[in-house]
Amino acid sequence: MSYVPEKSRYDQVPYNRCGKSGIKLPAVSLGLWHNFGGVSSLENAREMIHTAFDLGITHFDLANNYGPPAGSAEKTFGHILSQDFNYYRDELIISTKAGWGMWPGPYGDFGSRKYLVASLDQSLKRLGLDYVDIFYHHRPDPETPLEETMRALDYIVRSGRALYIGISSYDAEETKKAAKILKELGTPCLIHQPSYSMLNRWIEDGLTKVLDHEGIGCIVFSPLAQGMLTSKYLSGIPENSRAANIHGFLTKEQVTDEVIHKAKTLNELAKERGQTLAQLAIAWVLRLPEVTSALIGASNPDQIKDCVNATNNLKLTDEELKRIEVILTEK
Ligand code: NDP
Repeated sequence: MSYVPEKSRYDQVPYNRCGKSGIKLPAVSLGLWHNFGGVSSLENAREMIHTAFDLGITHFDLANNYGPPAGSAEKTFGHILSQDFNYYRDELIISTKAGWGMWPGPYGDFGSRKYLVASLDQSLKRLGLDYVDIFYHHRPDPETPLEETMRALDYIVRSGRALYIGISSYDAEETKKAAKILKELGTPCLIHQPSYSMLNRWIEDGLTKVLDHEGIGCIVFSPLAQGMLTSKYLSGIPENSRAANIHGFLTKEQVTDEVIHKAKTLNELAKERGQTLAQLAIAWVLRLPEVTSALIGASNPDQIKDCVNATNNLKLTDEELKRIEVILTEK
């Protein structure tokens, strides 16, 4: 059956301005790192994309290496786009990245101009697109001169392969340097993509200040700590969970007693607010004015609905914030 999106889709989530740019992003965006690869169900993937778009999620985040196998999440998404979204391309912000190992030899990893341009050309083929909206350098490269990487990003925009560029996982100092070069080149950095959640707060240590000063937006990945800040692990590690599968991005060892204790206590607070733990975790990352969007992942459509519902109750009182602080810092 052909897909017809929900008419009320733009009344569901707030849209936040991305730094000092012309782009607004939904407060919740969907990433395709897990559950969209060649080994996952295409039907479930399609349902998740439909559910997300119906709920006003206009932004879908990919990378060259998402799968498994690497590249297959872009293929899956490209397939769904061509089947169901022909009329809606201009309503979507699609991002991809390069920076982690993608093909053998010295030109398939890190941050050379050779790697970034070739990788994006491959991504565009897999996605079946002429351009992506945002292209990211996925991680800092300690060896390639920053000027080369930034010039490659500038070239990528000027050549029409991407409309905007972003950086991911750069620390505060690296971000400041990258932003300066990009400004001089005339292709300002649109957005930064760091990890951030109640269990991982490194961006509060200087990065948010730089982003605010430079007018760069911020989309935080893994706001649910890969599922640990949801109801998923409150009573053990279920079979159908990321921690139970063999890919190793979240191991059983990471789901420690301390993490479960914190999750349980936070879950009580979430209940008092009439929310799920996932919703509280999303409201908490969005409390920072620098954070444009919470970039979630999902393994089924209901999780996406649950996460989007967070935006019905984003306000955290000072007292709630203090209680969360105590829970997060107690040993
Ligand atoms: P999350 O922290 O949102 O974790 C997603 C997982 O949490 C889901 O797969 C699911 O686990 C569980 N979950 C989600 N919603 C619910 C819910 N409502 N109730 C119960 N469980 C829920 O984010 P990810 O780690 O998946 O990362 C999100 C995106 O961020 C990625 O897809 C990618 O686009 C980006 N990313 C970027 C990186 C970078 O280096 N730039 C690195 C990592 C991610 P389960 O599968 O067990 O059901």
